[in-house]
Amino acid sequence: MAEYGVDRFPLHAPSLEEVASVLEKGLQKNFSEAKVSVVDCPDLTKEPFHLACTGLCGHPRVSDIGGIPYISPFPAMDKVYDLKNVPKWSDLQSSPSVFMVGAGAGPSLFLDGKLVELMSNIRINDGQKIINQSKICKICENGSYLLEEFGSSTECMHLSNIYVSEGKPGKVIQVKAKHRTGKEDFIMALQSALSGHYGTKPVGLGGVFLLTKGKAKIHIMPCYSVTPIGTEEEIDNWLKYFEMSSPLICLGYLMSHDPGWTLRMEHFHCFSKHGDGGHFHFDTTPDDAEYTAYFNVPDYMIRVDQPTASKQ
Ligand code: ZN
Repeated sequence: MAEYGVDRFPLHAPSLEEVASVLEKGLQKNFSEAKVSVVDCPDLTKEPFHLACTGLCGHPRVSDIGGIPYISPFPAMDKVYDLKNVPKWSDLQSSPSVFMVGAGAGPSLFLDGKLVELMSNIRINDGQKIINQSKICKICENGSYLLEEFGSSTECMHLSNIYVSEGKPGKVIQVKAKHRTGKEDFIMALQSALSGHYGTKPVGLGGVFLLTKGKAKIHIMPCYSVTPIGTEEEIDNWLKYFEMSSPLICLGYLMSHDPGWTLRMEHFHCFSKHGDGGHFHFDTTPDDAEYTAYFNVPDYMIRVDQPTASKQ
């Protein structure tokens, strides 16, 4: 596997209390009820989270690996990344435990030309023992979809967006929001709250959110397109969209601002215990929508294999 360029950029990381207050003001413009506080992280290995590690604390970082230019308009088939390298890329290789959650493109069906949505949920103990609870969601022959365990592979293709920490318990931001009244969806409302307050200082928010009530628009990537997919319309026609049911467990991170690092500004993939999963867009039932989230504020952006054309 190729060695990839890794850039490390410090992020603006205000206190959790300050970020919580900024988020609450923003969410209250878009939800009839919104409360954001700093709490002890619940045990994320338990119901209703089903994650590979207990907490989101200890050197919180985000890793933006590859990018959309490696899939659109033409897929770059040599862009294969091993998430086992994230601890090294993030300077956490000597940590006793590294926990990674996020969204990417899965390689497991690479041989028969299919792409899959990857929900990364991985813990690495002592730099070598891998507990991989990642899932994939793929399009089936009949056009429906299937959520599956990913198995032992830690590879992904083209792009991946990972929130990484030592997985320790500790203080995190808890978000509770229900009944969406505004135009901005949940992710957008969080982003615009941060960008409205912090302007060009890049602030990130990573971890897990649950859509606990209502339904959501989700996409799943099918086989590679035989024609180039460059425009938004071409991408829209290629992706398969579904309305899926809560509860959905969504993993990833969002950013408030891109200082020119070709960032994916938000990326969350979801899974569930009832077979639904994929790339989360927004809730489709604003009256019923209810969210609970646990986030931490990363101190570094790890930019891996930034697409060259857009770097210039
Ligand atoms: Zn995605």
